Amino acid sequence: MRGYVKELYDKLSGKYSWEREFLQAVSEVLGSLNPLMEREPRYRKHRVLERLVEPERTIIFRIPWIDDHGGIQVNSGYRVEFNNALGPYKGGMRFHPSVNLSILKFLGFEQIFKNSLTGLSLGGAKGGSDFDPKGKSDNEVMRFCGVLMDELYRHIGPNTDVPAGDIGVGGREIGYLFGRYKKLKNTFEGTLTGKGLGWGGSLIRPEATGYGTVYFASAMLSAHKNSIEGKRVLISGSGNVAQFVAEKILDLGGKPVSFSDSNGSIIDTDGITRAKLSWVMELKNQLRGRISEYSKEFGAKYYEGKRPWGLTEAEIAIPCATQNEIGRDETRALIDNGCICVVEGANMPTEPTAVEMLHDAKVLFGPGKAANAGGVAVSSLEMSQNSMRLSWTREEVDRRLQIIMKDIHTSCLSAARDMGVGDDYVTGANIAGFRKVADAMIDQGVV
Ligand code: NDP
Repeated sequence: MRGYVKELYDKLSGKYSWEREFLQAVSEVLGSLNPLMEREPRYRKHRVLERLVEPERTIIFRIPWIDDHGGIQVNSGYRVEFNNALGPYKGGMRFHPSVNLSILKFLGFEQIFKNSLTGLSLGGAKGGSDFDPKGKSDNEVMRFCGVLMDELYRHIGPNTDVPAGDIGVGGREIGYLFGRYKKLKNTFEGTLTGKGLGWGGSLIRPEATGYGTVYFASAMLSAHKNSIEGKRVLISGSGNVAQFVAEKILDLGGKPVSFSDSNGSIIDTDGITRAKLSWVMELKNQLRGRISEYSKEFGAKYYEGKRPWGLTEAEIAIPCATQNEIGRDETRALIDNGCICVVEGANMPTEPTAVEMLHDAKVLFGPGKAANAGGVAVSSLEMSQNSMRLSWTREEVDRRLQIIMKDIHTSCLSAARDMGVGDDYVTGANIAGFRKVADAMIDQGVV
């Protein structure tokens, strides 16, 4: 970073010094924008960056709820409506004890560019709570979701803000949130995405982020005369994104060799087959068990407290758990173990120094805001189907998803090449995502 962009970042980091993850996300984007700012002074003249780094609205509220023993529990609820220059605010809700304003601002900020890259009419937002669904009964989760919605419902709507899932928020939580929203508003409308298939959901929405990430990886490899076929793939996480990354890797002839959760990782050098994957899906989605149980079932090695990076040789790594899960040492180990491609299924899982190391080592790197945009893209297709009151087939949604991911890949690569930075997908994604939002903000005046 240098000059005007650096001055702006220094000011922001003074103002929000404690928001580590948010500043990290901003610094990564601003770091890519220097050449564009110098080439096109109108962005500076209209103070687009100064406006873009401040959320348009942030809602913070109390969520008191009653547990199964009659005790009163209190959590914090948030919705960060970051930017709606391109369309209604759109972004997931995260339920995890680590949730705070910094994490949601980082996710909301990233979401602006991700949504812009999809080419669809979507603004950027993110929300959630420090509530931990792990170990809670269905009734507790339902009561919690109800109280959260008692406040959130007045801020959202199909043309205003359309939340979806993220860590800790899957089909069950979306169901409870939607049920309460519908009751409070007395309207059946497509305000949340990730809904059940029988009541407004879209086919392929659960699969979309994972499948999309693999379509993006496939496009990157193919642009570099390579493919997924025959490659060993390290995957972190074992939730929604990780499961469908593994499924699509298998479809394309690759070999998934790991999963993890917040307690540790399993490495299965024989490969995670379809049968093993359906066992994991049942373990995680129905029984809500721990990934360590995989090693007891299939005899694979379990590493307590470890992430999968570098624990075995693999050509591709797809982090699908959480932010900052690949640091310097893990990157060194990945490179030493023959990794040629890292693609982010999760949001910001790779630390900035790790990204630099990957670029220096000429390892292909696909940033999350481009690679994992398939989830929000199919959410937008769910919104379209809701508006038209019809349902597309699985094949139709998958076909549209593949086109969107290919187009995002092309936009990133063309923007990178136009800026003279070769195959730097980070710069490409930031510039391609930024341009559309910035131009819309200029057109819409100072609001
Ligand atoms: P899930 O809750 O379904 O799964 C999350 C997985 O990551 C679980 O295995 C979880 O383990 C693990 N995990 C979560 N937090 C940590 C942590 N602090 N340390 C280690 N492991 C952790 O979430 P998703 O699969 O939906 O989301 C995964 C990532 O993908 C997130 O970064 C999310 O923002 C991103 N993403 C998701 C989209 C979606 O459509 N769902 C869209 C775009 C991006 P455990 O069970 O132990 O908590």
